[in-house]
Amino acid sequence: MRTKSTKQNKINVVTLGCSKNVYDSEVLMGQLKANNKNVVHEDENDDGNIVVINTCGFIGKAKEESINTILHYAHKKENGEVDKVFVTGCLSERYKPDLEKEIPDVDAYFGTHDLPNLLKVLEADYKHELLGERLTTTPKHYAYLKIAEGCDRPCSFCAIPLMRGKHVSTPIEKLVEEADILAKKGIKELILIAQDLTYYGLDIYKKRALADLLLALVKVEGIEWIRLHYAFPTGFPLDVLEVMKNEPKICNYLDIPLQHINTEILKSMRRGTTHEKTVGLIEKFREAVPEMAIRTTLIVGYPGETDEIFEELKDWVKATRFDRLGAFAYSHEENTHAASLIDDVPEEVKEKRVSEIMEIQSQISFELNQEKVGKTFKCIFDRKEGNYFFGRTEFDSPDVDNDVIVDAREHYVQLGQFVDVKITEAGDFDLQGEPVAVL
Ligand code: SF4
Repeated sequence: MRTKSTKQNKINVVTLGCSKNVYDSEVLMGQLKANNKNVVHEDENDDGNIVVINTCGFIGKAKEESINTILHYAHKKENGEVDKVFVTGCLSERYKPDLEKEIPDVDAYFGTHDLPNLLKVLEADYKHELLGERLTTTPKHYAYLKIAEGCDRPCSFCAIPLMRGKHVSTPIEKLVEEADILAKKGIKELILIAQDLTYYGLDIYKKRALADLLLALVKVEGIEWIRLHYAFPTGFPLDVLEVMKNEPKICNYLDIPLQHINTEILKSMRRGTTHEKTVGLIEKFREAVPEMAIRTTLIVGYPGETDEIFEELKDWVKATRFDRLGAFAYSHEENTHAASLIDDVPEEVKEKRVSEIMEIQSQISFELNQEKVGKTFKCIFDRKEGNYFFGRTEFDSPDVDNDVIVDAREHYVQLGQFVDVKITEAGDFDLQGEPVAVL
């Protein structure tokens, strides 16, 4: 691969989108490192002469961010600041022919299942023996564990199956091997991810096997917290609740995007569930694991969401009091089932509905946080910024949930270490506290 600069090539990998993309970038970087390539992740000097952009193609805003990032580096290439620009990931998988036409300065575009070819243009060989090994980009004490790729669900609004393909589970023994490698590197917290975590095993074991996987992972020495992200409501494997209840390593935490509550909207979204079933499922969670923190995601402004239906959604959010909640405006995505519907909710109404839901949630979160004041929680600390250490309880996932903040001028906590923290004050999305014991 001919490049203008005489010094050794430096490959800068830039990741956009979700934790699954982070995982894929880490696998790519692990392969490049094993080929003795000088590879960095989102280099703060931004002086890599070769750039690989791992894009997101999920919804409007994410696509925009990916295109702007590609244009940014294509521009740097034009200015001679960068020699090569390669693009991979979901946007490239979904729009390769258009991108090749629209932004021809990019040296090559790759899909989401194209790692060996991407490595080839980077003069690296794909090393099978590295399966389960990667260069993690998260703080040294936690890592994502992708347990499956793709999705078989028919959700009307979602383009992910178009970009990620069919659901493919990774066998339990492979995941245990990977967890063991991570634990030996000092990882204490595993965050389990997939497009649909609860579909795990249906392809390779012909049954929902998430509970079996969890029972295998809790045996991995060194792993202390296992967190579940991206569960799906319909066909939820209730045996997972038993494992969560009985196994202290499984965080009492569940991320389950529910998207909506109105039965007609859920039907149009092809979610395979109803208002009543959804309410019933949440009740089952709270009966089985009363202290479980439930995180969900909602889409507002979906075609046909009248003011009345939106009132139903708001009332349900107020009544359910989720511990963590995110809301997004519906994005009309071509080639999805919903693309044939009329996108009848104006953008400004969608945005207004997102703010209304988040307003309700911030009040709920504030009230729930007040109940934590005076109590002590096992926490792990991720970073120090300025005069403060930032950590999390088992009820908080990195980057999306509450921070536990400790004043570094008065206290010292070691990053990556478990510490008991007494909560002294609480806001809507953060807690302040004092360390009381190192664990
Ligand atoms: S479960 Fe539904 S929303 Fe999630 S990735 Fe699959 S199709 Fe998309």
